[in-house]
Amino acid sequence: KPKKFLGQHFLKDLSIAKDIADTVDVCPDLPILEVGPGMGVLTQFIMQKSRPVKVVELDYESVAYLRENYPALEGHIIEDDFLKLHLEKLFDGKPFVLTGNYPYNISSQIFFKMLDYKDLIPCCTGMIQKEVAERIAAGPGSKTYGILSILIQAWYKVEYLFTVHEHVFNPPPKVKSAVIRMTRNETTDLGCNEKLFKLIVKTTFNQRRKTLRNSISSILDKENPLSADPIFNKRPEQLSVPEFIELTNRVEAALKNKTDIVYSNDIARKVTNKKE
Ligand code: SAM
Repeated sequence: KPKKFLGQHFLKDLSIAKDIADTVDVCPDLPILEVGPGMGVLTQFIMQKSRPVKVVELDYESVAYLRENYPALEGHIIEDDFLKLHLEKLFDGKPFVLTGNYPYNISSQIFFKMLDYKDLIPCCTGMIQKEVAERIAAGPGSKTYGILSILIQAWYKVEYLFTVHEHVFNPPPKVKSAVIRMTRNETTDLGCNEKLFKLIVKTTFNQRRKTLRNSISSILDKENPLSADPIFNKRPEQLSVPEFIELTNRVEAALKNKTDIVYSNDIARKVTNKKE
């Protein structure tokens, strides 16, 4: 019986399961980690890719089902919470593809974890709520453009692949679903201070209606020295990823100008990880 608190909506449609599995074909040589295999609907097609496969499943009943029905998976099932898993040693430290029909209640957290491990994850595909997929793929000026869009697009090319209807699941979720693919840039070097970049994206979007000048001055101790620059009159949703990188470099330059600007204790801690 599907467990709601685990976001269990099992796929009934085999041809959709195969289409989802095929989204990993663009990165053919990498091992695959599937999150939330449930009863293996998707897993059976992933196993046909003849590459190393591991699955991580939190539900002991699903794990028991997989052990019984997919003997070839023996030794490759991790019974654990994906969000707590250390991914560094998983495939002897080698990069891998992340995929799954994800538990929707934790889909954003899964992608924040992907970002923490971006050096190990050159490709991530799978199914999530349509609304979250749209947020991830959104561009500047769109209503759904936000923290998730920018942080993911800073490192990954995002493709919204196809929409999936509720009736192919048991039980049907309340929302429509979508399959996406994220392919990481060749280099993970952004060309700016990564911690400050994340802090600026989060700070400005948490005060979405304010101009950048107003929200950014809240992370500086003194008057914002760049306030004359027209870029600061914009709102966060108007800025592309390259513009956020540019903005980060300008703020960092100001922060380094120690005669005028004093790091606020908070930002110093967040950016340098040092205690004042
Ligand atoms: N892949 C299966 C399918 O397509 O039918 C199941 C998909 S269902 C939407 C999500 C699955 O993720 C469930 O099997 C659930 O038990 C599992 N799950 C939920 N939270 C999890 C977590 N934190 N870590 C690993 N698996 C989790």
